[in-house]
Amino acid sequence: MSQRMQQGIPMIVMGDDAQRVKDRDAQEFNIMAARAVADSVRSTLGPKGMDKMLVDSTGNVTITNDGVTILQEMDIDNPTAEMIIEVAEAQEEEAGDGTTTAVAIAGELLKNAEDLLDQDIHPTAIIRGFQLASEYAVDEVGDVAIEVDSEDTALLQHVAETSMTGKGAEQHKEYLAKLIVEAVQQVTVEADDGSYVPDLEVLQIETQTGGAANESEIVRGGTIDKDPVHDDMPKNVEDATIMLLSEAIEVEETEVDTQVNLESPDQLQEFLDKEEQQLRDKVDQIVEAGANVVFCQKGIDDLAQHILAKEGILAVRRAKKSDLEFLRNVLDCAIISDLDDVDPDDLGHGEVSWDQDDELFYVYGPEDSHGVTFLLHGSTEHVVDELERGVKDALDVVATTIADGRVLAGGGAVEVEIAARVRDYADSVSGREQLAVEAYADALELVPRILAENAGLDSIDVLVDLRAAHEEGNVRAGLDVYTGDVVDTFDAGVIEPAHSKEHSLTSATDAANLILKIDDIISAGDLSTEGDGEEEMEDPGMGGMGGGMGGMGGGMGGGMGGMM
Ligand code: ADP
Ligand code: MG
Repeated sequence: MSQRMQQGIPMIVMGDDAQRVKDRDAQEFNIMAARAVADSVRSTLGPKGMDKMLVDSTGNVTITNDGVTILQEMDIDNPTAEMIIEVAEAQEEEAGDGTTTAVAIAGELLKNAEDLLDQDIHPTAIIRGFQLASEYAVDEVGDVAIEVDSEDTALLQHVAETSMTGKGAEQHKEYLAKLIVEAVQQVTVEADDGSYVPDLEVLQIETQTGGAANESEIVRGGTIDKDPVHDDMPKNVEDATIMLLSEAIEVEETEVDTQVNLESPDQLQEFLDKEEQQLRDKVDQIVEAGANVVFCQKGIDDLAQHILAKEGILAVRRAKKSDLEFLRNVLDCAIISDLDDVDPDDLGHGEVSWDQDDELFYVYGPEDSHGVTFLLHGSTEHVVDELERGVKDALDVVATTIADGRVLAGGGAVEVEIAARVRDYADSVSGREQLAVEAYADALELVPRILAENAGLDSIDVLVDLRAAHEEGNVRAGLDVYTGDVVDTFDAGVIEPAHSKEHSLTSATDAANLILKIDDIISAGDLSTEGDGEEEMEDPGMGGMGGGMGGMGGGMGGGMGGMM
């Protein structure tokens, strides 16, 4: 589609299949699509949230409670819906958690905006009101936030536990939270300005099927999940000089297939000697560089294995590239790509030891190195996958918390408090924007409402109780989803990072406003079709989408109804 300006008049050239939807219809269309996405994840929010089972077109199954994973796996082919998914992805990227919250709030903002549009309030007034409210809300989050010290292990463990609640990792959350906090503290360094910065580059998760989650452990350094290539090689090297190698230790093959014509046995011997010499040269280069351990990403020739073993060198072949890259960070060395060009400074130093049970090598860096590997155990692949998502999020959340140094009371406490403050602020806003600011406050209360709903509680009663507690000045009053009582959730250990909440408010507002600003949809294809022929998956959740979009003119709600 091309768009040109001709004498100041916008001209839009559209193809035969093109469709155009304008004004109120366009807004309605977009809001429906965005809300459908938001509604599809709300049942997973909070400790009592349910999981989703996603089956892709090849039959792979993912069972998860993680908002961003659900949205990514759904493979939705609708541009508006994709904007909402981007909110989740940005949230995941920035904070590692709070994705469901961000998407749910974006959906609720749009729902409330629709009511305002129905009252003939112009989108620009709504957008402006939302923007004002969002800025105010973020400031107030800063006001209620509680400072946390990077060495306050007990509190950080609560942050990790809160993040894992409701996920596959929950069952072992206390045990895992201890490891998570220890791991993040291990990789945290003090910056020049005195702040603490977790370096996640040197923190990795290694998963192992078999064994329970509480058999997980953290290793100060990296791991290599391979056997030594030769039985005569040492398995433990205390004073290790380690070479990470991306080149094969094999005879270099000539570019083109050449035929070697041998005319005598001598010539054959000469040829073989030459090959052997090449391999010996390579091993010599390793010895000369001073390495007694080689982790090679490619293959190692049988003869070379033999020579290496004779030299007392521990060698591993076909190590994972990602493992080598991680060790490079941990050992602060280089990955060598050419044995002809090795600088002894490129090698790493540490200790290598063989773990008989897990059948892998532990690679410890020197005393002052920071690298940590989280060895995560889970009984089956699906279990360990969901555990990994939970632990990864919790690692990010703890890292975010240490870097930012501020936390909030969860369980809806912060949302109810901020909603009340935004509502007060609305009185000072003039014009129609005031209604939008109020609508924003209402949208914030979605979080405690869904938490209650998902716990089988009456969401109206809960909200009434929460509002009353906040009116009395209990800033940290939130919902205990297990009893339905209003409690001080901070004291109860339901604690979230402040930065993540601020980010979810901002990105939810931005997405809602972006969508509200659109009054004209010009599509090169038929809007009623689901996609452009890309790989599509049949999933029960989004099945209603095509139908819903199709009914543009009238019965849009019906199609979308299948989503809820
Ligand atoms: P998100 O993807 O937004 O992180 P979650 O499913 O992780 O979604 O739910 C997060 C919400 O659950 C937060 O509002 C948090 O305060 C709340 N929450 C977590 N644990 C508890 C708990 N034990 N009691 C009450 N609320 C909780
Ligand atoms: Mg979460």
